[in-house]
Amino acid sequence: MVVEIRHRKKFLVEESSLCQKQCERRLLVAKWFKLQIFICSVEKYLNYGKYLYEAADNQTHWNISYRRTLRAWEDELHLELISRLPQPLSINNNCVDHLLWTAFPSGSFIVKSLYEIFENSLRLTPFPIMKMWKSAAPPKIKAFGWLVWWNRIASSDLLARRLIIPAINHCAFCGIDNESALHLLLHCNFAWKVWAEIICWWGSQWVSPSSLQDLLLWWYGQKYKNLGKLIWEVIPLAVVWSLWIARNNMVFNSKVPVWGNIVDSIKIKVATWVKFYSHLPNYTIHDFMHCLDGLKGHKL
Ligand SMILES: [Zn+2]
Repeated sequence: MVVEIRHRKKFLVEESSLCQKQCERRLLVAKWFKLQIFICSVEKYLNYGKYLYEAADNQTHWNISYRRTLRAWEDELHLELISRLPQPLSINNNCVDHLLWTAFPSGSFIVKSLYEIFENSLRLTPFPIMKMWKSAAPPKIKAFGWLVWWNRIASSDLLARRLIIPAINHCAFCGIDNESALHLLLHCNFAWKVWAEIICWWGSQWVSPSSLQDLLLWWYGQKYKNLGKLIWEVIPLAVVWSLWIARNNMVFNSKVPVWGNIVDSIKIKVATWVKFYSHLPNYTIHDFMHCLDGLKGHKL
């Protein structure tokens, strides 16, 4: 059982263990670092076990040594430290250390418990999966949106990292910067012009998000109603998909992307997907492209 304590600039604490209880201890020990007496301690890099000693009464106690005699006010800090630390566990030197999987009551590893850990950690990132998944876009496009969120589209930088191509290629749109998903789909001047035009089509303005995740989080955090909601939720998927298709046409077919054509194709995709999904025979593609404001309030 090892808790590794490291003294860094900001008193970070690390540990190498799977024992959950040690995590709790870590938090408590971390508080110690905030106490000024830490700078007086003899060793700031010790195993958990070395902070303990076994007294004559066979009980285990905390054993923290200081480089000098503590002053009166530091005695109080020492007592505070001891009071904050948990009751020390007894260490049996006759037993062999072994790993314990505390995510499951029996201590044995099962895949389900690992899955639950991952699932809980994913919840920390509020991915707008439901809104994206329930949008009117076709399943293939939603799956692409999922890859965009995880930065897993086959852009040049990803292929280079996986040694599939020897080096990162330049962006297919501007030919200047290295191609990454973020650059290609958001930060490239060409992509940015497309986004700006689509935002303008919606009747709004914005500031460029710093990442694709931020973009999607912000986008799906907006609340619209009626037909406007359906339209809004498919727009980012239509944009990233259209940019990706344009990029592939440039890379594999040497077809130079035309900004205006891509913008029109995005509007047509949005209109087609929403019309098909909501069964709105009264509205034409032309209405979507040129009278979007009039459609947003249509009740479904
Ligand atoms: Zn570019």
